[in-house]
Amino acid sequence: MIAVIGGGIIGLSIARSLRARGAEVTVYDPEPDGTGGAWHVAAGMLAPGRESAFEHPRLESLLEASLALWPEFAAGLGDVGYDTTGTLGVALTADDHVEAAREWRHQKLQPLTGSQVRDREPALSPRIRAGVHAPHEVQADPRRVVAALRRALAGRIVARRITDLGEVAADTVVVAAGCGTAALTGLPIRPVKGQVLRLRGEPGLLRHVIDGSADGRHVYLVPRADGEIVVGATQEERGDSAATAGGVHDLLRAALDLVPGLAEHTLTEITVGHRPGTPDNGPLLGRLDARTVVAAGHHRNGILLAPITARLVADLVLTGSDDPFLDDFAPGRNGCA
Ligand SMILES: Cc1cc2nc3c(=O)[nH]c(=O)nc-3n(C[C@H](O)[C@H](O)[C@H](O)COP(=O)(O)OP(=O)(O)OC[C@H]3O[C@@H](n4cnc5c(N)ncnc54)[C@H](O)[C@@H]3O)c2cc1C
Repeated sequence: MIAVIGGGIIGLSIARSLRARGAEVTVYDPEPDGTGGAWHVAAGMLAPGRESAFEHPRLESLLEASLALWPEFAAGLGDVGYDTTGTLGVALTADDHVEAAREWRHQKLQPLTGSQVRDREPALSPRIRAGVHAPHEVQADPRRVVAALRRALAGRIVARRITDLGEVAADTVVVAAGCGTAALTGLPIRPVKGQVLRLRGEPGLLRHVIDGSADGRHVYLVPRADGEIVVGATQEERGDSAATAGGVHDLLRAALDLVPGLAEHTLTEITVGHRPGTPDNGPLLGRLDARTVVAAGHHRNGILLAPITARLVADLVLTGSDDPFLDDFAPGRNGCA
């Protein structure tokens, strides 16, 4: 009998993999139908590279390995908004361009002029100076992913907050409780606050994910097929849940600078979530003791990392497999004990 603590995207993905391989699994979450996890706020960009490339040295490889598993993962869940149109990176000013160019060079992306990016996405502002197309970066809707995982695990999710792992009756306990993992295990996982907006208008204003900077303000715009556009996100080293005037202003200002037509959209949601960050911002994956396994600390990439986390943890629990990634992301590594 295996208990998974946490019914967010990571815990549910692991539980589904374990079940698919014949294991008896129970998931514990205080809100089995709720919206409490970071997944509910997340945009669902599946984008390896970016800042992650400059953090944990093996994180980019892990992200790329997980991206390769996404087509099969999405196909197994039904329609979860998996969309391969790709991302346009854009820079509004010369200073924004200098800043973005470092990351674009690292990702070996071909530079485009402002008019070339507007040929691909006519709703972009004519003031945009430069851009790139990242065809390998895709998106999925985390809310639809979690709904599909919940359906796949119907009857296996128990409404209960775990406060002490000793109270759980199971041979193996997998702790996948996002930011809640710190209190259960003592591992150094911190909340990194993110404010996100959702706008709604006529479908079709944008086709690509837009990832851009406008006068030093970074923003991404993730269009869904039904006309919703997710606008994110602030990144704040704090754990409160307040939506702030400054946070909302910065996101809207940058969004409207890049795509002026968004001014006509309706602002439908302001949400705040917490990325589970670690000292080197790589996830913590592996055994804590003979009975306990951890899968947490996925920071800003937990949606992207769900398929590989599920595979690595299911292998570890069921076969004892020691995939090299588990050495790289071991919970006891330097600074992460
Ligand atoms: C603003 C923002 C934008 C993001 N954008 C992206 C993105 O575009 N792409 C991407 O890949 N990632 C993104 N992320 C990151 C991603 O959302 C997280 O990495 C991911 O949700 C982590 O998954 P998780 O299941 O570990 O934690 P969560 O999704 O937070 O779920 C944790 C679950 O554990 C439960 N829990 C907590 N404590 C307990 C307990 N004691 N007992 C039982 N259950 C418990 C909670 O109720 C919750 O359901 C974003 C995050 C934020 C905040």
